[in-house]
Order: sequence, then structure tokens, then C-alpha cells
Amino acid sequence: MGRLFGTNGVRGILNKTITIDTLIRLGYAIGTFFKGGRILVGMDGRVGSPVAKTATISGLLATGCEVLDAGLAPTPTIQYDARFNDVDGCVIFTASHNPPEYIGIKVCGPDGVEIQREDEEKIESIFFEGKYNLVGWNMVGRVRGIVGSIERYVEAVVKHVDRESIARNRYRVVVDLGNGVSALTIPYILRFLKCEVYTINDHIDGFFPGRSPEPSEENLGMLIKAVKAFDADLGVAYDGDGDRAIFVDENGVFHHGDRSLALIEDYVMEVKPGATLVTPVSTSQIVDDVAKMRGGKVMRVRVGSVDVSWTMKRLNAELGGEENGGIFYGPHQPVRDGGMATALILHILATRGESLSETLSKLPAYYMVKRKVSLKEEVKSRLLSIIEEKIKGEGERVEKIDGLKVWFNDGSWILIRPSGTEPLYRIIAEARSYERAERLAEEYSRFIVETMKELASS
Ligand code: MG
Repeated sequence: MGRLFGTNGVRGILNKTITIDTLIRLGYAIGTFFKGGRILVGMDGRVGSPVAKTATISGLLATGCEVLDAGLAPTPTIQYDARFNDVDGCVIFTASHNPPEYIGIKVCGPDGVEIQREDEEKIESIFFEGKYNLVGWNMVGRVRGIVGSIERYVEAVVKHVDRESIARNRYRVVVDLGNGVSALTIPYILRFLKCEVYTINDHIDGFFPGRSPEPSEENLGMLIKAVKAFDADLGVAYDGDGDRAIFVDENGVFHHGDRSLALIEDYVMEVKPGATLVTPVSTSQIVDDVAKMRGGKVMRVRVGSVDVSWTMKRLNAELGGEENGGIFYGPHQPVRDGGMATALILHILATRGESLSETLSKLPAYYMVKRKVSLKEEVKSRLLSIIEEKIKGEGERVEKIDGLKVWFNDGSWILIRPSGTEPLYRIIAEARSYERAERLAEEYSRFIVETMKELASS
């Protein structure tokens, strides 16, 4: 059977890899899966999103679904509104950080959390077998626009932080909204918290003219300059659908997502001793150090936000996080939320009375080096067992939650993981020094390349 869903829902290029016809049938399949129930929909600011939404809604209505349309909104805003509207599920039209030509469809349950792989498979089998439950003409559903999602979300976020302490500081914050939908929520959250707000790339534009929708360091030159020029306390950048936030300190220094995660973890475990953080195997061990220091727990899971959310639900965990800037705050909602991440960082600065660089400098420093090695599908399984043999003899501890992760005596580690979307291995090495991390990544990349050559010639 074919696949529709990738690691983050259905993604493709309109009229090229996803047609209107596919979207209508996807709407039939999702509507059949939700048994013609009540479905909340919403979308990001991409050029193709209104088309994708309209086509998919037609399919949903044909299966008898009642559709509530929240319109344009960040992904966490739509997810948060699921419970308020008492729906059976949500369909969110977003391709997150992908290039502008992409569209995406994300399916979530009644609590706004993305559905699990087994439910995606159910939708796929309804789709590929064409077993749609189309209703009679007098039973088709209706669409109703809803209002207030943005306001409800903004109010919910600020409720979780000490508004008075933040307000007293009158923080000067520069936000780079990346022409994404977070423009609808972030400036208002900050205004609520009495910050002085400066915005860049703040008009929603599906062509993403300001910068790529991925908030990686090389795309944030303008934000870094603006933080210095405005003498700001903080800079924050978001991805296209506003579920991830990346921070720049008052000196204009970019910080990777696992450092802001460790800071939020430190705060959560300080106020709630014994709290649990759920994070993928690829996150820096900085989070293990923080947990040790604060007496909290770290639960490692496979890479991908769905695994983080569902493990949080199962353990009733306080926090989840990813190195890409995804923060899942349990007391609010167990999904990535860029607005919540921003409010939490301000809360930490205000209650500690420290600047971002000061408070981050207290965390241990690690260096991470990432590599990719392309591989041939036919040698994949043999290659993995050869790597495993090599690794067993060298490290002191091997973890197999997702790929192979090996820990060495000096506290450094390497993760070798086949990509879920492309024919390649992702290699991550982390150590106390950059040189050591670099050496590990180099050694293992070379080993994989050489072994592949041997396998191909044998
Ligand atoms: Mg996103």
C-alpha cells in the first residue's frame, strides 16, 4: 500500500506532487476516519493553503462532517482551540518551515495533538482502498467560520507566566516573524506582557520574501543586526507556522534550540522537583546535566514531534522539547508552541532578574557536529549491522531508541540514524570540545562511506 503521510503529515507541491483530486479524496478519507464528526480547520499563510483547505473541506463535507473554520492562524493556536470547540479532530494546512512551493496537511485528534502513526495508516488504507463513507445529498455537512481563536490562545499563553514581573521589566524584544502566521499572535502576546515590541518580516506572505521559513542561524542575520541596533533585551525568530521559536541574546548571539530548551527545563524542574522532560535521542546531553542538577527525569524518544507529544500524554510529563526550537509545555498543551516558548523565556528572565546571556552562561557548554552520508537502500540493513558491530567494541553504552547512539568514556556520544524521509544517514556527534565532536563525526562518516564501498564491490 502507498504512503501519504511523512514525518510531519502530508506534504507536497500543489498541482505537481499533490493534486486537487488527491486533496478531495484525502478529505473523504479523513472525514470517513472521523466518522463524519465535527472538524476544526485552519491554515498558515502559504500561497497554496487556501486551495488545499477548500479542496479538503469539500471532501470532509461529502462524508457528513461539520467543519469549523478558524481561518489563518499559527498551528499551536488551532491546536489549542480544538478542546474549546469540542471537536472530534482537526485538519491544519501548513508546510511549516518547507520552501514556499510546498503545502502540507496535518491531522490532529480532539485535543489538538497530532494523530499517531497507526491512525495515519488507517486514513491511508481508507484512501488507497477508496472505502469512503459518502453520505446522501441531504446529509452533507456545512462550514461555519469561527472567531476568537487568536484571542483565546493569547490569553491562555500569558496565564502561565508572571505577567506583573515581566511587565515591570518593560523588555525590549525584536521578533522576526519570517512572513509567517505567528504575526497574528506573537506581537499581541508581547504587548500583553508590556514589552516594547519591534517586528521584522511581519507581513504574512506565502512567498516568504524576507527570509526562509526555517529559523536557522544563517537565515537570522537581520534579526541579529536588529537586536544590536535597537539595543534590545532579546530577539526571537519563528518558523513558518509559529510552532518553533529560536532565541538571540542581548548581545546578538544566536542560541541553538537545545540551549533554550535546557533553560526552560531548568526552570520547570526548579519549580516542580521530579518533573519529566520528554525529548528525542538527538537532543544535547545538556538536558541530562540539568535534570541531574535539579533532580528531574529525562525520557528519550524517537525523533519527531508526534512521539514527544504522545509520550508526554502517557507520562503526564511537564515538558517536551526538541533541538529545533520546539517547546511543548505540559500545563498549557503537549504540542510545540512558539508563543508559549517566548512567554516562558521572558518569565525566566524576569523572575531571575538576569539577562538571557547571563542566565544561559550558567548552563554547561557542549559542541555538536552534524553530518549526512547518502546511502543505497539495498545495503541499508547489512550496513546497520556492521556499524553496530564496530560500535559495540568501542563505546561503553549503546542506545537503540532511534538509530544507534553510542556513549564513550569521556562523556561524548555519536548518533547514527537513517533518515525517515531521504536515503541518507544523519550523524550527530557531541562532546565537551568542538575538536572531539568533529573527530567523532569525521571518523564515523568515513567508516560508513568505506563500508558501503566494500559492500557494493563484494
Ligand atoms: Mg513548524
